[in-house]
Order: sequence, then C-alpha cells, then structure tokens
Amino acid sequence: MLSTNHRKLFVITTVLYTTCSWLVSSYLVIVPELQSHYLNTLLATTVSLKQPNNQQVCNKYKSLGRELEPVSNQILSGSGILFKTKTDNSLLSLPTEPLPKIHPNAIKSSVPIIMYHDIILKKEGIYDLTPQELEQHFELIKSSRMTPISLDRLVAHLRTGSPLPHKPIVLTFDDGYGGHYEYVYPLLKKYNYPAVFAIYTSSVGVNAGRSHVSWQQLKTMASDPLIRISSHSKTHSALTKLSEQQLYKEVAESKHTLEVKLERQVIYFTYPYGNYDSRVKKIVAEAGYLAAIAFGTPSEMFAGQSKDLFAISRFEKSHLEKVIPRAWGSPVLPQCNS
Ligand SMILES: [Zn+2]
Repeated sequence: MLSTNHRKLFVITTVLYTTCSWLVSSYLVIVPELQSHYLNTLLATTVSLKQPNNQQVCNKYKSLGRELEPVSNQILSGSGILFKTKTDNSLLSLPTEPLPKIHPNAIKSSVPIIMYHDIILKKEGIYDLTPQELEQHFELIKSSRMTPISLDRLVAHLRTGSPLPHKPIVLTFDDGYGGHYEYVYPLLKKYNYPAVFAIYTSSVGVNAGRSHVSWQQLKTMASDPLIRISSHSKTHSALTKLSEQQLYKEVAESKHTLEVKLERQVIYFTYPYGNYDSRVKKIVAEAGYLAAIAFGTPSEMFAGQSKDLFAISRFEKSHLEKVIPRAWGSPVLPQCNS
C-alpha cells in the first residue's frame, strides 16, 4: 500500500515537475518572443504613424516635384512656402530655412543667374548686346534644353530646397533701358521665358543719353506674370559710400515709388554695381525686401553657393556658354531620399 502510494506520489511529483519545467521554459522562450513581437508591432505602428505624411508626399511628388511653383510671392517670407503643381491642383507646404539662410538642398544645386544690361541696335560698350545677339542667347538656352525660371521660384528653392526643373537658369536685365521694352520684352513673350528687370527710379522715362523705359511701359511689363521688377535703388549710387539717411532713401523710397507706380509689391533688390556690405544688407532687409541680387561679389557663382539671400550672385552674360553644362536643379524634395 505504502509502496503503491509512494509510486503514485512519485508519478504525481514527476508529472508536476515536468509540467512546471515546461511551463517555466515555455515562459522563458515565449514571453520574450511575445515581448519582441509586441515591441515590433508598437514600433511599426509608431513608424507608420510618423512616416505616411512624409512618404506620401515623397511618392506623390516624386515625378511632380520639379513642377512645383510657389503659389504667391507674398508668402515667400513665411516659415512655410505653399507650392502648387502644374499637372494637378495639389498644394504642398515646405518648411523654410529662416531668412536669410540658404537651404542645404539648394546649396547643392547650380542655378546660374545671368546679368544683362542694354539691348541696343548699335553696341557702344562691353555690356551691350544687339537684339539679334540676345535672340542667339535665347536659342542657345533652348537648344541646350535649359529651363528659365522665375526669381520667385528660385527664392522659394533657396529657402526650402524645393526641386527645380532640368537645367534651371534665371535671366536678369539691369538699369531699365528702352531696349528692354522694345526688344527684350517681346522676345521673352516669344520664348515664354520669365525674367527680372532691375529699375532705379530716377531713370524711368529719362531719355538723355540712352533711352529708358517709361512708367507706362514698365507697368505693362510688371503686370505680365513672366516679369518681376526689382528695385535697383533711386539714383544708382554705390550704396556702401552713403550715409545711413541717404542709404535708407535709396533703398526704401525706391521700393515705395515702384510699388505706388506699378501697383504691386516689390520684394527684390538689386545692388547698383553689385556694391554692398553688411550695413547695406541690413538696411535692405529692414526695408522689407526678401532677397537681394548682387553681381560677382566676391566672385561669380551659382545662386545656391551665395553667402545668403541678401547676396545672391550672378554671372555676366558673356559667361552663358561656360555655365550651361554645369546648371543643375536639386531633384530631391527636402526629407525625401530619392
Ligand atoms: Zn545697374
């Protein structure tokens, strides 16, 4: 009896021990697996909660990215710039670098800004071109499959890193010569190329020496979506040599005059002679401009390699052929890897 009881006790103990051992070992194996599974699920959920916006944006705008256009130049100053696309009506807001910094994506791009002066039938100096020569430049731009872009689009790119089309280029014409209305404007319309005209207000309508555009001509050009007007000061003085008061007049009064006469905002400044320093830049920024174009100070370089948005560099027109092979717009949206 005793031995039978002992046997029963032994069997029960063995079964209990085996069961407990199995349970313990199972616990040790299963729980970490469960924990790991749970953690993975949690992690996946967290990642998927974070990623869709960015991923959706990246997927959606992968092919459309290069067509992004800032919706309005009035919001180029904001902390996020709203873009629209050509092929659908989607809107996309991209965060900006604080003014006047240039976005890291834009630093990698190579956008040449070309500086032109008078376009005139009979050339008198190295800065002049004939209308035929300008058309040859436009033909070269076309045959090189370059894409002239607006200054709004470039500034939006410099602030957000937004992608630009194939071989972007910006065209600028300084000093408001009569030839700009007579020859340049019709050519821009013919080729559908955007451009920027830098105007110093005391020259408008003045035809002593070389001819200059009238206010009426300027107003016609300014109302065309292809054209942006930039202030080029009041009297075309070397700004670094002026007193604070004179400097303010050149920068702020010219903005006000252009805005009243043209009935639209003027948000870009072009330094006469490319002449500026930190004091001039500060006054230009304080006067309400969003960006300022220099010339080749300290040397000619692509827009993205400029020090900041108040010292945007350009190339003289004679270097057009040289810069064409190097022109490149960053193809990747900010925060997207491909
Ligand atoms: Zn000038």
